[in-house]
Amino acid sequence: MTAARFPEEWLDQVRNSFNIVDFIGQYVQLRKSGRSFMGLCPFHSEKTPSFSVLEEKQIFHCFGCSEGGNLFTFLMKLEELTFPEAVIHLADSAGIRLPEGYLQNRMETEQQQSKQRMFSAYELVVKLYHYLLFKTDYGKAARRYLSERGIDQETAEQFQIGYAPDSWEFVTDFFEKRDYDHSLLQQAGLLGKREYDQKPFDLFRNRLMFPIADTQGRVIAFGGRILGDEQPKYINSPEHQLFNKSHILFNFYRSRREIRKKRQAVLFEGYMDAIAAWQAGVHNGVASLGTSLTETQATLLKRNADQVIICYDADSAGIDAAMKAAEVLLSVNCQVKVVSLGEGLDPDDYIQRYGATKFQLKIEEAATVTSFKMEYLRKQFDLSDEAQRMNYIQAALEQIASLPNAVERDHYLRFLSEEFNYSLDALKQEQRKIYFQQKKAGNRDKVAGKWNNSINNGTHVPVRSLLPAYHNAEKKLISLMLHDEKWAEDIMQRVGGNFNVDEFAALAAHLYSFYSVGNTSNPSKFISELEDEKLIQLASQLALEGSDDITTSKEEISDYIHQVLSYPVWRQIDSLKDEQRRLEKLGDNLKAAQVGIEIHHLIKSLKPLST
Ligand SMILES: [Zn+2]
Repeated sequence: MTAARFPEEWLDQVRNSFNIVDFIGQYVQLRKSGRSFMGLCPFHSEKTPSFSVLEEKQIFHCFGCSEGGNLFTFLMKLEELTFPEAVIHLADSAGIRLPEGYLQNRMETEQQQSKQRMFSAYELVVKLYHYLLFKTDYGKAARRYLSERGIDQETAEQFQIGYAPDSWEFVTDFFEKRDYDHSLLQQAGLLGKREYDQKPFDLFRNRLMFPIADTQGRVIAFGGRILGDEQPKYINSPEHQLFNKSHILFNFYRSRREIRKKRQAVLFEGYMDAIAAWQAGVHNGVASLGTSLTETQATLLKRNADQVIICYDADSAGIDAAMKAAEVLLSVNCQVKVVSLGEGLDPDDYIQRYGATKFQLKIEEAATVTSFKMEYLRKQFDLSDEAQRMNYIQAALEQIASLPNAVERDHYLRFLSEEFNYSLDALKQEQRKIYFQQKKAGNRDKVAGKWNNSINNGTHVPVRSLLPAYHNAEKKLISLMLHDEKWAEDIMQRVGGNFNVDEFAALAAHLYSFYSVGNTSNPSKFISELEDEKLIQLASQLALEGSDDITTSKEEISDYIHQVLSYPVWRQIDSLKDEQRRLEKLGDNLKAAQVGIEIHHLIKSLKPLST
């Protein structure tokens, strides 16, 4: 038997209920351009629009990938529907009744029939598992687990969460009494097939069951979490005719409306994360199915959102996975942000511990990929240690140097410069050096990919050529005093013993006393009076280096002095900021605000003096 055909007039009626520009406009941002509307093609990845929609002809065409057609073709391609499915979907949403007699005939081909059988089998099993979870003793431990995870009944019902009992034949027997043949259920991944006699058995045993739906909301697979300590913790239905893991995102059907509305999606790693987030009011969340994000999944998100916020576990595996997902999303031109939950927490834990409001705030505060990477790098160094701080900055500069966009590079350089009070120029120079090194080595692309490992495996060898601004300033001041006695008095008055680098503080003390007994500038005499080997070396070096550019303006000296004196204040601000973050985490907003005021005053006190 062939599939029944839709009457031509009826198809026209469906088609005429939609304007293709409005319809496609729900998926693609369109701009009027001459007689057509242009946008970024949803079927291939591009940066300049080559996808055009012609209103007068009610057709679309992409000049980039040659996809084209009418309203029906668009929906079929986009949602991977058959022609009848697309037409019925549109008729439904336009409120048009199906033609007479069509309901009986519509799924007539054998393939369509078996597809329908699979859908209905899944529907039955979803109901069965859900019933077992909430209405029977089988589900007791699973119910306890859910309530321990803070998932309430309403959410469990929305997601149709269920329980598969610890049995090899529960579902098998269930179907035994119904008119479903085993091979269809095995094909659909609902039952397993015993190797030696092909007999069916239950695939999921003693597991909490999460139904996985396609883009139409029809359940086509399960994810099952073990109750207890056995491995593997999660298993999914095997792939089959209707279920391709790399094409499906968990919860996409439910969250699509919100994703489109916000033009933003939140990507989770686990089912429980997406579910807990939903309960916490994040209704634009999806999860990949236990594998890394594929390009198809990324494209599905890109069609519906401009921005994707990655919210993975805060452990090192999660962070690696987040960076991989970010690369895939960036490759299909999504804007990407990353949430940093901290403390090794996963989103589900975080919500349990800190509640829905804080979690939503975390999502809003998501950082750009580069900020996230830099934040992550920071945690691997003890920034109170001078040498480690230098290593951090070096690693951060390598990150920055690998960014393709100059404006972006500049942004992060400024950020580094302000945070650590380094001169922006010095950072820029260093970054440029790294940029050309990377370019020469031909590995500019590779750096971005291996940023994490380069530190963990200890092969990271920083070039220690970069010194902080105050370091340079102190060196300059000492050099000045060494070459010209007339500065010594001024510097002694204004800086005194407040040099931050021990060696410079010592040299300054020696210089003050050298000039106070009536000496004029005489580096070699000064050096001969020093006893400490290290100071002698340093003074000799300064005596040689500094003699060329000794002409210095008063403004420049004031600048140096300002840098020297403000450095300890910056350190104090840093530790106050840490304190502020700690208080915010504890929820002590009043104290955090007081610390904030203190920080504000300190920053104000640092305004450079205009001498
Ligand atoms: Zn295209």
